Amino acid sequence: MKYPIDMHTHTIASGHAYTTLLENAKYASEIGIEILGTTDHAPSMQGSPHIWYFDNYKALPRKIYGVTMLYGSEANIIDYDGNLDLPEDLQERLDIMIASMHDPIMKPNCDRDLNTRAILKAMDNKNVHIIGHSGNPTFPIHEEALVKKAKEKNILIEINNSSFVRSRIGSDKTCAKIARLCKENGVRIILDSDAHSCFRIGNFDAAIKVLKDIDMPEELIINRSTKEFMEFLTKEKGKVIEER
Ligand SMILES: [Zn+2]
Ligand SMILES: [Zn+2]
Repeated sequence: MKYPIDMHTHTIASGHAYTTLLENAKYASEIGIEILGTTDHAPSMQGSPHIWYFDNYKALPRKIYGVTMLYGSEANIIDYDGNLDLPEDLQERLDIMIASMHDPIMKPNCDRDLNTRAILKAMDNKNVHIIGHSGNPTFPIHEEALVKKAKEKNILIEINNSSFVRSRIGSDKTCAKIARLCKENGVRIILDSDAHSCFRIGNFDAAIKVLKDIDMPEELIINRSTKEFMEFLTKEKGKVIEER
């Protein structure tokens, strides 16, 4: 597996995904994923779990079927001040935090200034490691401001495979632009499947094609190295990923 990390996946707990945590881990193990992020939607998304779901991850082992599990959430940006829908002390305890804008948690609008403000403010939150599917045309932004802020705050920009094949139609142009800006500014990106069933885990084919088209340097794709990714979390972000 060239890119043995998938940090954005959902389980049945999200309410609109179809496989369990165990099924996801098993499938990941079979295809050669070494580190799997399980990042169910945080509570303001319809059908998503109560905060206790995220608070009780300690019930789970660090490795399942030989795959290192990182327990986190795809939190919703809930306002233009960049607030998220998980309590701060819980955010701190999660292994991995993605922040994303979703319809209908935020009303779709074409005001680039406002959307950008929401994301940039969320990036001031030290618990945010990844900005999810920021190329979504439902929430147009100033892409350059996003990438510069990612550089300043050392946050990974996600290139989300599902944005090209399943949802968020029209993301491809914006995602290519964001990736190109990341290349120009030396900002690392992360490939994510955003799988809502195990069968899409580790599939980054469409995202890789976009990166190929802009000749993205390999060293800016953090999925290529489990060592670099774990150092990003532990050394650069100060996370303690304890053995269990
Ligand atoms: Zn999302
Ligand atoms: Zn997602």
